[in-house]
Amino acid sequence: MADKQPPVAPRRRVLVIGWDAADWAILNPLLDAGRMPHLARLVAAGVVGNLASLAPCLSPLLWTSVATGKTADKHGILGFVEASAEGMGTVPAQSHSRRCKALWNLLGEHGLQSCVIAWPVSDPAEAISGVYVSERLLETLVERPEQRAALPAGCVYPERLTPFVAALRLHPGELTAADLEPLLPSSAEIDVRQDPRPARLARHYARCVTVHAVATAAMAAEPWDFFAVYYEMLDRVGHDFMPYRAPLLAGVSAEDQQRYGGVVEAVYEFHDALLGRLVELAGAETTVILLSDHGFQAGARRPPYRPRAAAGVAADGADWHRPLGVLALRGPGLKCDERLYGASLLDITPTVLALFGLPVGLDMDGRVLLGAFAAAPTVTTVASWEDGPWPRQPAAAATDVEARAVAVRQLVALGYLAADAAVGSAAALTAQREALFNLATVHLHHGRPATALPLFERLCELEPYLARYEIARLHALSRLGRQAEVLAHDARLQAQGLGGANLDLLAASALAASGQEARALARLEQAAEREPDNPVVPLVTGSHHQGRGRTDLAAACYRRALALDPTQAEAHSGLAQLALDRADFESALEHALASLREVFWNPSAQYRLGRALEGLGEMPRARLAYEHALSQAPDFGQARYRLAALLEQAGDLLGAHAQRQIAFGFAPANPVTGEGRHTA
Ligand SMILES: [Zn+2]
Repeated sequence: MADKQPPVAPRRRVLVIGWDAADWAILNPLLDAGRMPHLARLVAAGVVGNLASLAPCLSPLLWTSVATGKTADKHGILGFVEASAEGMGTVPAQSHSRRCKALWNLLGEHGLQSCVIAWPVSDPAEAISGVYVSERLLETLVERPEQRAALPAGCVYPERLTPFVAALRLHPGELTAADLEPLLPSSAEIDVRQDPRPARLARHYARCVTVHAVATAAMAAEPWDFFAVYYEMLDRVGHDFMPYRAPLLAGVSAEDQQRYGGVVEAVYEFHDALLGRLVELAGAETTVILLSDHGFQAGARRPPYRPRAAAGVAADGADWHRPLGVLALRGPGLKCDERLYGASLLDITPTVLALFGLPVGLDMDGRVLLGAFAAAPTVTTVASWEDGPWPRQPAAAATDVEARAVAVRQLVALGYLAADAAVGSAAALTAQREALFNLATVHLHHGRPATALPLFERLCELEPYLARYEIARLHALSRLGRQAEVLAHDARLQAQGLGGANLDLLAASALAASGQEARALARLEQAAEREPDNPVVPLVTGSHHQGRGRTDLAAACYRRALALDPTQAEAHSGLAQLALDRADFESALEHALASLREVFWNPSAQYRLGRALEGLGEMPRARLAYEHALSQAPDFGQARYRLAALLEQAGDLLGAHAQRQIAFGFAPANPVTGEGRHTA
């Protein structure tokens, strides 16, 4: 593969910066106001887009998918915590629980040096070719500075760097009110004995500064080809302070909003300054990839406000996550000032491999982001990177039980874990169940309901009448077309008082499928009464009406969904179909594009775009849309048929034989770009 590459190359270097939970909805107004100059430069000189997140939307799973190019059923990291070895409690998810190689392992096999700083699920440190600082570094910043623990074994690799890293830690107790002032202008007026929020901000800040200090020092002092650094602060500050951001959320006092409403923006600006320093140190020839694992609800879709005193009762942390993250790339050979559509977290590892001229594993779930390259790179593949030896750093002995307990307690405080999920043998069992639930969720969302169903059934047996497990089982049954069972479970759950909008929607679709239209409509109405602000309710209702030819009602529902949440891609896609039905191709085009701007990976929206473009006589663009639909869903018969028809009309260069192959579905998935390897 190497001899096919043109002789370019001063040595390629790649810097990956992870900003947990960064969201364009917050970034864009700050960029427009000139408040993030470093990001503005990155955007102007590079390629930007949405980055599709994955389900379940939980950071440890997502960042491990970023670093491996694989979904969680393959990489094996299935939660924030796992049962401890003794089974008497939980510990943060461990790096040695990852079942496949990460980028730093792959690059090391080819003589490339990596620096990995505080990446999620990085404890204990792995012995890699380069430098590796585990996230446990941050758990050594315990409550009081004088209690500051020495860095335990297994935290830093190579060990010679341990004292150097230890000395760079900033303890929250070393901060004064004045230090926090840029983030919290009124910090000096707040009585911190009454109000714990400044101390929480100080803790997030100290952890962030510590990561940045270690990252910049390592970047300057150590050789590297690949550098990955992870900043958690935007997510943590989001959980603690997003409720105070304007517009005023019910239950938030005007005083709190006045005091804390600007914290989120200030922390974004702070991250821009950190970005500036990283990019400067890395040098202009380094490829920079900035990304987040998901977005964060910042406006009307924020969950209801819960004062801190009530926190820890229920784990609703992930309810704040939005399924679209951010992506910005800049570097030699990449496009400049362009939009990139259709990227997913899974694409980062294949893209970094392509940047280094290394082959992409065919067992990876992502693909190379070819749209980011000015000239298409030569992409090679290998069946799997997992073959061959993989010497792993043995797990460090659990000598620092306290640091791990601190980490688990913080997950509770953030709402990622229920309070009773932290300690004791019951917590260990909960962790195992949640891992199973997350695994089943991955299968369900990747088009494998038959694999997911037995897992959900086991969970419902282990913990009967837990709404989350029950509803997930019904989703799997519904996807398998087993509507009679959905209805039987619906009756059982309602009898137990477990009704809700989710159950109504599932029951409505089962009732409709079994011809009970009046009862289906009644359940849809019930869902709307229960959750009038949930955009999914009018979305599902609109699709129901559309399927029965009630186009005016369907259109009204889709518009209602968009009024509740303008980013509802499926509502735009539904409106596109309604416009196609009345041959209004202009409007269909507008809605299909609006849908794909939000979520590019949507075969039926791609198909509708193709139909609209055909109606407007734009055949080459229509053909591209059908090609996208087919690359996303290779079994999409209508798209295949329309594409073949277009090619035939055009008397395309492809011979009649190739056209027939496309029409009948025999055209192979492209092994080079990986197109066609996604499942619907
Ligand atoms: Zn996250």
